[in-house]
Amino acid sequence: MAVSAVHLESDAFLVCMNHALSTEKEEVMGLCIGEVDTNRIVHIHSVIILRRSDKRKDRVEISPEQLSAASTEAEISFDQGPEQMAAHFLNMRHRLADMTGRPMRVVGWYHSHPHITVWPSHVDVRTQAMYQMMDQGFVGLIFSCFIEDKNTKTGRVLYTCFQSVQAQKSSEYERIEIPIHVVPHEAIGKVCLESAVELPRILCQEEQDTYRRIHSLTHLDPITKIHNGSVFTKNLCSQMSAISGPLLQWLEDRLELNKHSIIKLQKEKERLTQELASL
Ligand code: ZN
Repeated sequence: MAVSAVHLESDAFLVCMNHALSTEKEEVMGLCIGEVDTNRIVHIHSVIILRRSDKRKDRVEISPEQLSAASTEAEISFDQGPEQMAAHFLNMRHRLADMTGRPMRVVGWYHSHPHITVWPSHVDVRTQAMYQMMDQGFVGLIFSCFIEDKNTKTGRVLYTCFQSVQAQKSSEYERIEIPIHVVPHEAIGKVCLESAVELPRILCQEEQDTYRRIHSLTHLDPITKIHNGSVFTKNLCSQMSAISGPLLQWLEDRLELNKHSIIKLQKEKERLTQELASL
């Protein structure tokens, strides 16, 4: 039976959006962490960004340090079979419970559709069906980005949540839409915060890797090397303005908000202490 709805916490949503908007050249992918309640509502508290192992389209891999130092063997890619993915998910359940102190687990996956429709492809629907075989409550999220609204000429981001069901007349699978709600939450989860901060680190690392690889080529003339160096610097600067800057702003706003709540809570505490003393 399909899940009834998905509640995506706003901070996790922000991390997904940041991740999806970080590149328009290829799809990005990540995992959703959370829990499923008795009403079959999936609550997503945070997400884990999966790192691309190389710049080839559609290939991603999980970075070991993202989960814990002990998870050196954890590697997930689109190339791997669903059985291997399932084994990794089961491994992760234990680790996530350790990290958060709550029985968190991988409840779904998300990926981006740059420049294309938000609806899942046939491959997406089939992949989703395989994930559901190991976990019925598993959900798939898609973020379609870098799409221009024809009327307003402004950029649009669309997102959807889906599950797969067996089609009635054939052996194929088809998608069903799951209602998804972005819900505000007072505190940012540890995993969510780590993922948010991880994104600029991953992107910077990718640029560095590419630059080092090109720079080690010996046949390049000095002018080409200087050119490559400036492209590297330019890319890092764009990342800072597009990703790191807004992230820092978000965290600063959050800090400001927290300071206000501390003051409010302290006043409340004083009031209660006084009340207690007068009893
Ligand atoms: Zn897709």
